[in-house]
Amino acid sequence: MCVFCKIVQGEIPAYKVYEDDDILAFLDISQATPGHTLVIPKEHCENIFALEENKAANLMKVVTRLSKKLKVALNIDALNILNNSGQLAGQTVNHFHIHLLPRSENDGLIIKFSSNKLSETELKGLQKKLKEG
Ligand code: 5GP
Ligand code: ZN
Repeated sequence: MCVFCKIVQGEIPAYKVYEDDDILAFLDISQATPGHTLVIPKEHCENIFALEENKAANLMKVVTRLSKKLKVALNIDALNILNNSGQLAGQTVNHFHIHLLPRSENDGLIIKFSSNKLSETELKGLQKKLKEG
């Protein structure tokens, strides 16, 4: 059983902040910023590629609700929402989870996209691939 399934089953403890029949949210054991929260489906599902759309919709509702809760409770007005799906994306626990990362001035967290420019042809090629099927 994976570590998050063990948390769902109550086999290992966690600081839970939200729970319903299908979804659980709890504080990340490693607080990248204070309030760093993980939102998971209770049913084991490896990552975004295995997640059913209707389950994703319910998860997103909870993510939205908790984001607003974090804003008020922690008096923040910035938040990163992050999912790592797959090893190359940095996924270390193979049970789908969304990170909620409250942000504040000088919190030291660095999430940075590089600014690669692709040619018109490359962009059109990608658009074609993504729109097909
Ligand atoms: P990933 O790298 O897969 O996106 O994130 C996995 C997260 O799970 C990490 O931020 C890590 O700190 C957290 N984590 C791993 N094991 C446990 C645990 O036993 N309890 C809690 N609360 N968080 C955990
Ligand atoms: Zn699991």
